[in-house]
Amino acid sequence: MPYAYDPQNIFAKILRGEIPNRTVLETEHTLAFEDIYPQAPIHVLVIPKGPYVCADHFALAASDAEIVDFTRSIGRICADLGIQPGEGGQGFRTISNAGEVAVQEVPHYHVHILSGRPLGRMLQ
Ligand code: 5GP
Repeated sequence: MPYAYDPQNIFAKILRGEIPNRTVLETEHTLAFEDIYPQAPIHVLVIPKGPYVCADHFALAASDAEIVDFTRSIGRICADLGIQPGEGGQGFRTISNAGEVAVQEVPHYHVHILSGRPLGRMLQ
């Protein structure tokens, strides 16, 4: 396994209850909570409960059950917040940073969900 998971990272501490969080959704395999430094009116972080460093690690090492739970959790959060573009909501952006080039700050896989303001084009 090329990834060494650091159990002292901030999200691991959140999962162990050592640091408080504002929970948006919790399931068997997934936790979602508000970002402490929100970049938009809606800024939710979705993390698997398992020890995965980034998206490719999660995609290749997690079980099907974890992956399904995680993906459906993103859908449920967007539905609960009413931001699905196809349902009259305003839409949203998901981002996941991995490693140095993307300046990943916390080495526990997470997906950002951003909404609530115009986000502009990210890719030109
Ligand atoms: P990254 O740069 O790794 O993609 O994003 C990490 C995110 O975690 C940042 O948006 C940052 O604001 C957020 N974050 C860092 N520490 C904490 C914390 O202790 N609690 C919460 N809720 N978010 C945090």
